[in-house]
Amino acid sequence: AGRWARAAAVLEELEEQCATPTLKLREVADAMVKEMNAGLESEDGCKVKMIISFVDKLPTGAEKGLFYALDLGGTNFRVLRVQLGGKEGRVVKQEYEEVSIPQELMVGGSDELFDFIASALAKFVGSEGEIHGPAGKSRELGFTFSFPVKQTSIASGTLIKWTKGFDIAATIGEDVVAELTKSLKRQGLDMRVTALVNDTVGTLAGGIYDDSDVVVAVILGTGTNAAYIERIDAIKKWQGPIPNSGSMVINMEWGNFNSSNLPMTCYDQALDVESLNPGEQIFEKLISGMYLGEVVRRVLLRLAVEASLFGDSVPPQLEVPFALRTPIMSEMHHDTSADLKVVGAKLKEFLGISKTSLRTRKLIVQICDIVAKRGARLAAAGIFGILKKLGRHDAKRRTVIAMDGGLYEHYTSFRESLLSTLNEMLGDEAAASVQVILANDGSGIGAALLAASHS
Ligand code: ADP
Ligand code: MG
Repeated sequence: AGRWARAAAVLEELEEQCATPTLKLREVADAMVKEMNAGLESEDGCKVKMIISFVDKLPTGAEKGLFYALDLGGTNFRVLRVQLGGKEGRVVKQEYEEVSIPQELMVGGSDELFDFIASALAKFVGSEGEIHGPAGKSRELGFTFSFPVKQTSIASGTLIKWTKGFDIAATIGEDVVAELTKSLKRQGLDMRVTALVNDTVGTLAGGIYDDSDVVVAVILGTGTNAAYIERIDAIKKWQGPIPNSGSMVINMEWGNFNSSNLPMTCYDQALDVESLNPGEQIFEKLISGMYLGEVVRRVLLRLAVEASLFGDSVPPQLEVPFALRTPIMSEMHHDTSADLKVVGAKLKEFLGISKTSLRTRKLIVQICDIVAKRGARLAAAGIFGILKKLGRHDAKRRTVIAMDGGLYEHYTSFRESLLSTLNEMLGDEAAASVQVILANDGSGIGAALLAASHS
């Protein structure tokens, strides 16, 4: 009985500290708007960088020709070839390949990483498949690079910092297009990067190609970020010419958002301190797929130590950082069997914990629910903040949000909680004109489209 009382106390504390009542979410949204305005004025000392993407014209549908895209942003990277057929033909054909990035390359040398990418691209280009490009013309490449970059033009930008488990000091401050171009040369590949885009910007471009009412793109995958279309006169820090469109896509880098209103627990604090980027990407660490399972693991570890939840000794695998990945958390969370046998099986397979009671399993599902719900509701608050900034939170104009990322796509309960929270914040009337669409892998096509419109 003593250990259950201790477990109940830990759970109660967790629930309390993770609570996200609507009032608090409104404060978070307002803090987001404030950070957005600050970042649009100047980047200095701002948490939300509001990076100017140099994308001032979005796809119209008239794009034509053969284009390539390369998408580097997390655990995998993709190479993509797309044949665009103009207004009538649209996307005539697309082919892609996905390659996973070896862990040691994520924390090794800069040349090694870019050479690896270039060689995979060379292999892909070499196997021309069904699509053939015009002979004698250098191939054009859209480069989706989903880390904070200070853009210097549509096709150049320097890396501000790595995130999501990447840590390669030599790349920081370098132009990532120049780095890639050097590697392409070493591979003897005749390709020209005509657009460097963040995945949010690519998703926005791909989304607009399909639906002209898309104004915001959000990524919820390994990491999290958002981009949207801003009026040029609202971008105080913009010193260039006024674009014909009168607008510019802003890559928010909202993963670095932070506010005293964010519900932080001791687990989040410890996760942050022990991370590769302490003090940074706090919003991302509360929301995204890289971290949700890790927060749950930390709660379970405390329960093992303080309440002997898994018996007299602490299961050694439970002490391994990131041993509980978010897809596993999601499977446990969605276990509908009466005896929670999926929870039992996952605990055994991934944490080496066998013979758990139903009561223990129920507790674990509850913890998954608390952590996922907090992340989903905070993401909704962030989206509501953007809509508020755009004056579309209480408007009747149709507003579409293009969403991409494995977390949103596969974690059903996370997705449902996000959508219902967004509706709750908007109210019935405004919610009727706001739509979230899954822009599955829109960022690759989007990068190819931007390579086309900027070639
Ligand atoms: P990336 O963000 O690396 O570009 P994705 O958008 O494909 O890639 O997202 C992958 C991430 O999505 C994984 O790291 C994981 O955190 C999350 N994810 C994938 N599948 C699931 C799942 N079934 N349940 C919960 N999260 C998932
Ligand atoms: Mg991605």
